[in-house]
Amino acid sequence: MTIAAPRSQLSTHEVFNQPEPRLRDPFADDPALRGALGPDLGADADLIALGAALGSAAMREAARDAQTRLPELRTFDRAGRRIDEVHFHPGYHQLMALGLEAGYAATAWDGTGSHLKHAAINYMFSQVEPGVCCPMTMTYAAVPALDANPALATLWQPRLTARGYDPTRRPVAEKSAVTLGMAMTEKQGGSDVRANSTRAVPDGEGYRLHGHKWFCSAPMCDGFLTLAHLPEGISCFLVPRWLPDGSRNAFTILRLKDKLGNKANASSEIEYDGTWALLLGEPGRGVQTIIEMVHHTRLDTAIAPAALMRAALAEAVHWAGGRTTFQRRLIDQPLMRAVLADLALESEAALLLSLDVARAFDDPARRPYARLSVALAKFLSNKRAPGMIYECMECLGGMGYVEDTPLPMLYREAPLNSIWEGSGNVICLDILRTLIKEPEAGAQLKARLDAARGLDARFDAALVAHRSRWPNLPPEAEARWFAESLAMLLTGAVMLADSPVAGEWLTTRLGEARGTITGAMGAIDAGPVLARV
Ligand SMILES: Cc1cc2nc3c(=O)[nH]c(=O)nc-3n(C[C@H](O)[C@H](O)[C@H](O)COP(=O)(O)OP(=O)(O)OC[C@H]3O[C@@H](n4cnc5c(N)ncnc54)[C@H](O)[C@@H]3O)c2cc1C
Repeated sequence: MTIAAPRSQLSTHEVFNQPEPRLRDPFADDPALRGALGPDLGADADLIALGAALGSAAMREAARDAQTRLPELRTFDRAGRRIDEVHFHPGYHQLMALGLEAGYAATAWDGTGSHLKHAAINYMFSQVEPGVCCPMTMTYAAVPALDANPALATLWQPRLTARGYDPTRRPVAEKSAVTLGMAMTEKQGGSDVRANSTRAVPDGEGYRLHGHKWFCSAPMCDGFLTLAHLPEGISCFLVPRWLPDGSRNAFTILRLKDKLGNKANASSEIEYDGTWALLLGEPGRGVQTIIEMVHHTRLDTAIAPAALMRAALAEAVHWAGGRTTFQRRLIDQPLMRAVLADLALESEAALLLSLDVARAFDDPARRPYARLSVALAKFLSNKRAPGMIYECMECLGGMGYVEDTPLPMLYREAPLNSIWEGSGNVICLDILRTLIKEPEAGAQLKARLDAARGLDARFDAALVAHRSRWPNLPPEAEARWFAESLAMLLTGAVMLADSPVAGEWLTTRLGEARGTITGAMGAIDAGPVLARV
């Protein structure tokens, strides 16, 4: 005889103090973004549609699948022939199609938009699934680098900017839409690419490459910009994944990296063994050629941390609004309000700084400023993102540490944009180098800062302090302090020009009533700041 277990009389499954997940539209539900984009882009039909798609349950599910059903390396076909392919979950392909069709890689180049619009697309996408942004960003960034070879530009550029996604494996000429990756880093050197050992040997109209790349994200791209040595020096090449005759190029994927985050993106180690490639730019000028691509990928590495912060902040504010402790909603508790307001200021400042940089990308006359400001924004926002996102995580208490919420994913993602495309120190040294080699960059930055003088006493005092501390460039060992100070001043100038909460930012960042930890500051009026989240 079996005895039925008694039904529990306990009410532990009656849930009333756990905020429900929110499907946030990263455009419609972001007044700070829409305001910062201005009246036209702030009401742009493409961005409205993309926001709605990214906020949908279907895309959130696709993102979760892409992050948790990991890419799989398939080295051989069943007959034992090498194929070196990566198999992705359909969610990955869904997101790639959404982004590329929305103009992620195209809108800055095809006359329909701008780098600012591209920045807005990246900002929204990075909040939902940052891994797929890597191949889309590289595709966007490769477009101007191809100008170095008119024949390659004619073949590739229309397909890179085609507003479509075609993951089939075929030669580029047979496809209407393609993606392009980058493979520079080797075991011997990432920042110092001149230490690379890959060699190129002429072969007819092309070259054969012999060597390896230690990091090659998105190895299923249709082609890659890569570096290899010629007798003239390190040179830039385009490696197509498939040869014009329809056969596979020699492109061995040794393994996929087991990474902290960025899980949807299949970062790999690859080997060149007689790999066919075409020269891009002049022999011996490879770094100068590929730097055009790096300049544009850097824009995205300055936007992405702002996006990750925004996504984390939205979760924190939503949670605090729906969670009660000690008979009061968290969002109504003064200390939690201070923490959230501080986090919101951090998020808004990073957003405005990155959009200011994107605007400079749209103005050829401000190219020197763009080169300098993108480095300042990349450095500052990425250094602040991990700590900021951790604080957002803590606002959720224990649930912030649990994978049911997006906080663990965002936290794992947070350090990445600082590391690639020029790690922190390298970026700071690059800032010094730009100031020495491109006086116009320093002059344009100075003009930007001077334009903000007289608007706020705290800003003025900080500017005077910076200039007295560094009448000239600092010694190399002080480059981080110098870059941080300059980036904070630039943020102050941007906030003063564009943000209704500039006063709160200046009080808490350049004023004195503040410790170094989030929320450790004198009271500010949190209402207007939180109203923008
Ligand atoms: C997930 C992921 C994906 C990636 N995808 C790609 C890809 O698709 N293609 C690609 O080419 N690369 C890729 N990378 C590689 C990335 O760009 C490099 O890791 C990065 O450029 C740093 O190079 P490194 O690892 O060789 O470090 P190193 O160059 O050895 O640098 C190590 C540290 O030393 C510091 N440093 C270097 N020089 C100096 C100096 N003179 N003074 C003071 N400090 C210094 C750096 O800032 C860094 O902190 C990827 C990396 C990651 C993590």
